[in-house]
Formats: sequence, structure tokens, C-alpha cells
Amino acid sequence: MTDAARRVAEFDALIIGAGFSGLYQLYSLRDRLGLSVQVLEAGEGVGGTWYWNRYPGARCDSESHSYCYTFSRELLEEWQWTERYPGDAEIRRYLDHVADRFDLRRDIRFGTRVSSAHYDAATNRWRVTTDKGDQFTAQFLVTAVGCLSTANVPNIPGLEHFAGRWFHTGQWPHEGVDFTGKRVGQIGTGSTGIQAAPVIAETAAHLTVFQRTANYSVPARNAPLTDEFQRWAKEHFDEVRQVMHSTTNGHPFAIDRRCVFDVTPEERAQIYEAAWQKGGLQFRATFHDLLLSKASNDTAADFIRHKIRSIVKDPVTAEKLADIDHPYAAKRPPIDTDYFETFNRANVSLVDVRADPIEAITPLGIRTRAAEYPLDLIVFATGFDAMTGPLLRMDIRGRDGLTLAELWKAGPRNYLGLQVAGFPNLFTITGPGSPSVLCNMPVAIEQHVEWITDCIAHMRSHGLTRVEAETEAMDGWVAEVNAAANATLLPQAHHSWYLGANVPGKPRVFMPYAGGMARYRKICTEVAAKGYQGFAFGS
Ligand code: NAP
Repeated sequence: MTDAARRVAEFDALIIGAGFSGLYQLYSLRDRLGLSVQVLEAGEGVGGTWYWNRYPGARCDSESHSYCYTFSRELLEEWQWTERYPGDAEIRRYLDHVADRFDLRRDIRFGTRVSSAHYDAATNRWRVTTDKGDQFTAQFLVTAVGCLSTANVPNIPGLEHFAGRWFHTGQWPHEGVDFTGKRVGQIGTGSTGIQAAPVIAETAAHLTVFQRTANYSVPARNAPLTDEFQRWAKEHFDEVRQVMHSTTNGHPFAIDRRCVFDVTPEERAQIYEAAWQKGGLQFRATFHDLLLSKASNDTAADFIRHKIRSIVKDPVTAEKLADIDHPYAAKRPPIDTDYFETFNRANVSLVDVRADPIEAITPLGIRTRAAEYPLDLIVFATGFDAMTGPLLRMDIRGRDGLTLAELWKAGPRNYLGLQVAGFPNLFTITGPGSPSVLCNMPVAIEQHVEWITDCIAHMRSHGLTRVEAETEAMDGWVAEVNAAANATLLPQAHHSWYLGANVPGKPRVFMPYAGGMARYRKICTEVAAKGYQGFAFGS
């Protein structure tokens, strides 16, 4: 093949990303619909988020028997998870297995980052350019770029002069990092930092955790899965899936119907204690109204604060950890293995950078207003430019050269989180405006992939070549997304990444759809059943 021939390759569909979403979308469009498909993936392997997030302690918060695809009975039968929550390496093994089992790799181009995607109305095709200068065109473009894949390294003056090494957890070196004997500074106490700190502390000479916002956490109680549970999960998978499809969050457990004040204080304390002992995100499912009523939420928040004070021996450290300023679960609630216990170690200390802000990174370490902390390594567990970041870092242009960045200047706008008016034949898997990050991700992903696949099948069987969200439908959905968030306590965590508040200059808009996965699925199904109401087709 000549260079010129190799450089513009034509497909029916292009998919950006080879994580959970991209793999299943490839399988669905190629093997179910018979389309010619190419996946473009920046990493050198499959896995998406899990390809990059290899930081110490990286593990999923969804229970393993629910953190998987459900579309293939054979796949469910043959795969065996080993722990209650899957670690990052096990998830990569799973996705490698999926890629091999369904022969997906032959249609994935690795080591290829998409830099631009422009729609050409004359040909009704997307022209996609990569960082290597290669070009592709396709009728359909599906972004499967993940919600948490654009690392957010804060712009702290002096980082370039730091004499030690630094890492962001979301871009962790594949060969690992040896903390033995090192003075380590960790910035960030979200889900990631809460997982990483206990593991780093095991080998570091000293770990200093720089905390800006104190955070709730509930024990994960991770453990190897028993043979009995593994058998049960396989035998009862239809029931498990039924629960996952009927709940707000797509997890394999139902949310209790009772409200906090339906029970006595004694019963409530027992319910919280039982959930604490059981561990995991089920703590959030103890009462129906935990995210609806501040008074109800306060009871869970107080319970966790009390636990923190009872675990952490130094009262000053305990107070800093328990001084939490937002409702429980209004930020993504972490679950942990010995996070608070870690602060009882002699080699771990906590710096409250809200009281004593970080001013600079010096060649020696981190300097706050009041002190300087000499360090060999800095770990940025500082999160992501979530949801919109992975889309906006590509130059996406729709009809008449309209850029996605311009349309989303004041926050993301789309219809059902799936399509943007002015961007025909572009689908965004788990985009903003969909439940995605508020949900057990594979459940949200399967629903989106199947909806998109059905929509394209509908088009092909009706001789339609173009689909595009209508502006009115898009505006209505933006209002619906705002209303759903405002009906909950979620927007009360003013510094949450759900609101884009963690990235300076990002518009403060609540991004995911908070109306619940089950409700969202119903809306999408009804829209399709009504002839794709709110979408305009062309041929
Ligand atoms: P995150 O929740 O955004 O937390 C980032 C942390 O860094 C926060 O404590 C934040 O403080 C702090 N931070 C950011 N910039 C800072 C600065 N300039 N100075 C000081 N502190 C700063 O990010 P994450 O922990 O990586 O988690 C992101 C999401 O990924 C999670 O919410 C979850 O959805 C997903 N995740 C899931 C798992 C799992 O399933 N187990 C594990 C990890 C992550 P503020 O709060 O004050 O902004």
C-alpha cells in the first residue's frame, strides 16, 4: 500500500477508544450489523481507563460479578472473578480476554490518538485525523473515550523545577513506582487518593497526604470470592441483572425503600453499623432518601464522622479528616481498605491545605504558606477533567464548522447524552447528560451501545443515512438534566467534579443525569419506540 492510500482509510463507522465501551461497540456494529469498523485507541492495549490507571491500590468500587458485560452468556459462564472488587490488573485481563474471545484486535489501531474529527455535509461523512497525521473517514463516529480519562495535573508553580519524580495516578508508569525508603507527598483525597495512600504507606519512608477537602469513606471489605459465591453468581445471574436494571445506580443491590426517619434512632444506628460491617457502596443504599433530604443525610454523615474519630488515634488528625463540608455521597463516595487506619502509622502525616494552602513546588518538595515538606516523589491523585474533557481535547466540528468547544462554552448540551444538534451521525457513549458516572459503568455502557446499535440498524433498514438530535429536544434535555440534579443533594458539593468545579475555568454545570439509570433506560427506550422522537433523520 502506498503512503497516500494508507493515509485515508474509509469505514462505515469509526470508534474512538478501546475500553469497555469501544470493545462492545465494535463487536455490536461489526458482528451484529456487519459494518466495516475501525477503532482508534491512544494506548498500546485495550482497557481504556484501566489501561492508564495502574496506581497503587487501583481497584473498582463495583462488585466484580456486576462489573462485566452481560451480553454474552458464554462469556459470563467462562470468566471467573477472584475478589469481591476487581483490581486493575484483573480488569485488564478480563478486557484482554474479551478482545481475544471476540477477535476484536484486528479492527483496533493502537498507539493512535485522535486529534480532530470534522463532519463534511457534502459527503455526510466524518473525517478523522490522528496525531500521526493519518486520516480516516466514516459515516458514523462513536466516541467511547470514557468519562475519567483526561488527567488533571494542577497548575502549581514550580513543578518543572522539582528535583524528584512526580506522577499522576491516571497516567501511572506501567513498570510501577518503587516507594521503598522514599519521602512521598500525595496531593488529593478522592476515591483514588483514598485507595493509594494505604498502599504507598506500606513501603514509603514517609507519606505526607495533602488534603484540601476532607472526604467520607466506607470500608470496602474486599476479600477473595468463595467458591460458593462464584457458583451462586453464575446460577443467579438473570436475577442479578434484573436488579442491576431496576435500580438507580445499576448496582446488584436494591436501595432500601425506607426513609431515614421511618425508623427509630436505635434501628438506624444498627442499619448503618450493619452496612459499615458489610462494606462497600451498599452503605449509600441503606435508606431511600439519603440523597434527597439534608436532615436524613446528616444522620449518615454523622455516623461516618464518628467512625473516623474512633479509628484515628491522634485527635488533631482525626478532626481534620472528619471536618467534611458536604453531604455524604454528594461527591462520589469512596470505599477503602484501611484508609483512616493509615493515619495511625508513624510514617504517615496529614496536611490540611485548606488551612495552609500549597503555594509552590520547590526543587526540594512542596511548600505551603507555613512550611516546606522535603520530598523524593509527588503523587498527584488530583482527578480528571471529567466527562467533557476527553471530548473537548479533540477538535470536533459539526455542520458548518461549528466546534463542540464553542457549543459547550457554557457547559455540555446534548440530547439524552447521546447526540448533539449540529453533529449528525456522532454518538457519544456515556457522554455528559447520561447517568454514566453515577452508575455501575458497564450497565450504562451496555445500554448506550445497544441503543446506538439499534438506531443505526433502524437507519439501515429504512434507507436513512443521517441522524441528528433536534435543537429543541436538546434544550429540553439540558433542562431535564438540571432539574434531575436539583431534585437531589448532589449539587450541594460545590467543589465536586460532577460540577466541573475541580478544573479552573470550567463551567459549573452538573454534568451527569441524576434521574437514575432505570428511569433513563425507560426514557431512551420510549424515544426509540416513538420513532426516535427528538431526532431528525435524512437520506
Ligand atoms: P477526585 O475525586 O476529583 O479527587 C481529586 C482530589 O484531588 C480531591 O481531593 C481534590 O480536592 C484534590 N485536588 C485537586 N486539585 C488540587 C489542588 N490543586 N490542590 C490540592 N488538592 C487538589 O479524583 P479521583 O480521586 O481520581 O477520582 C475521580 C473519580 O474516578 C472518582 O470519583 C470515581 O468516579 C473514579 N474512581 C473510581 C475508583 C473506583 O471505582 N474504585 C477509584 C478511583 C477513581 P478537592 O476535593 O478540594 O477538589
